[in-house]
Amino acid sequence: MQTAEVVIIGGGIVGSSIAYHLTAASCHDVLVLERETATGKGSTGKSMGGVRAQFSTPVNIQMSLYSIPFYASFEERLGYPCDYRAQGYLFCATAERHLAYLRTNYEKQVALGLKGVRLVDGTEIRAMFPQMRADDVVGGSFCSTDGFVDPYSAMTGLMTWAAEHGAALWKNATVTGITKDECGVAGVETTRGPVATRKVVNCAGAWAASVAAFAGVELPVEPLRRMLVPSEPFDQFPHTAPMIIDMSNGFHFRPESRGFLLAWNDPEEKPGFKTEFDPAFVEKILIRAADRVPCFADLPINPKRAWAGLYEMTPDHHPILGEAPGLPGFFLANGFSGHGVMHAPATGKILSDLILNGKTDLIDASLLGLARFAEGRMIHETAVL
Ligand SMILES: Cc1cc2nc3c(=O)[nH]c(=O)nc-3n(C[C@H](O)[C@H](O)[C@H](O)COP(=O)(O)OP(=O)(O)OC[C@H]3O[C@@H](n4cnc5c(N)ncnc54)[C@H](O)[C@@H]3O)c2cc1C
Repeated sequence: MQTAEVVIIGGGIVGSSIAYHLTAASCHDVLVLERETATGKGSTGKSMGGVRAQFSTPVNIQMSLYSIPFYASFEERLGYPCDYRAQGYLFCATAERHLAYLRTNYEKQVALGLKGVRLVDGTEIRAMFPQMRADDVVGGSFCSTDGFVDPYSAMTGLMTWAAEHGAALWKNATVTGITKDECGVAGVETTRGPVATRKVVNCAGAWAASVAAFAGVELPVEPLRRMLVPSEPFDQFPHTAPMIIDMSNGFHFRPESRGFLLAWNDPEEKPGFKTEFDPAFVEKILIRAADRVPCFADLPINPKRAWAGLYEMTPDHHPILGEAPGLPGFFLANGFSGHGVMHAPATGKILSDLILNGKTDLIDASLLGLARFAEGRMIHETAVL
């Protein structure tokens, strides 16, 4: 029978980062199982690629403090590109309460060692982007090391490096069951045959709850559709711009290729496995875009190029990391709530530490364990886009 020291279910950016970190830590007997014909067909290939350390909870900030320098040195470490562009994230506050919120977050970020973040006033924002209607902007916060990566390249670089250092990737391998014995996890059943292993990592993204159910573990992870609208080439707004977030309604955008990529979290969206793009969303988002950036009223859009994917949401918008309570050998790396690309490097390091050494120095991993839900220890992230 096929065996592996560690089996990873799901070959998206999270599974690939864990495979990379395990092999980099000299655990070479790693098998990644991906049900699709190619990796990246889940949420990773649909992502906006934003990376930021401007969060409100210390644990999310700490995960970014590992992940962003990792992306900055990606090519040097791995020999593959991830296209990290340090163009920043600019949060624009339109109410004093937003500003107070950004100030509190800023203080936490600086206390944890984030450099490059600063508070800005409305006048500075108006001077930075005169194309923006910013008469109601009272200030904001900007971090110069925030920015964007190409999620597909990052995922591919991580998996390729892992494969060059001993890891194996099986495509067309759907996991259909998880076997257990008195010691814990004993193996996985797949459409390419069974694999015996004592360590399984659930990296199944929006599908993680059904994979956990194979092991009898209840996982509070729900899929939520998320739509993005790219524009055609457009040069009336600078392409050096950061990710700009309008805090009055959550609309945000960033330069992409020769145009812009527009995003907005529609509050009417309900959880479910919907991945078709709704053409009615174009008008909804363009109203918000033109309200904040008047020249975006002329933004050329081809709705056929717009797309939708799935966020994997948890009740407190933090991931669920670590070994499942009561099932030795069953590890979770799920529920990134829209932050799985930016937190994939830290997740790879944390999971590799927990799998190989039973502990990690990167964060207090007990904060993100599955047990927090049953024990009433949720930690709410509010800086969710
Ligand atoms: C529109 C959109 C924009 C986003 N923007 C950002 C952003 O700006 N920044 C950011 O950090 N994050 C963003 N995200 C979130 C981010 O994309 C995800 O958090 C991240 O990709 C999750 O990675 P993953 O590897 O866990 O999941 P996935 O990439 O979904 O990979 C999971 C894999 O598991 C496989 N799988 C599932 N079940 C099985 C099974 N039974 N057997 C074998 N394989 C299985 C799937 O086929 C899939 O390939 C965005 C998401 C969307 C949809």
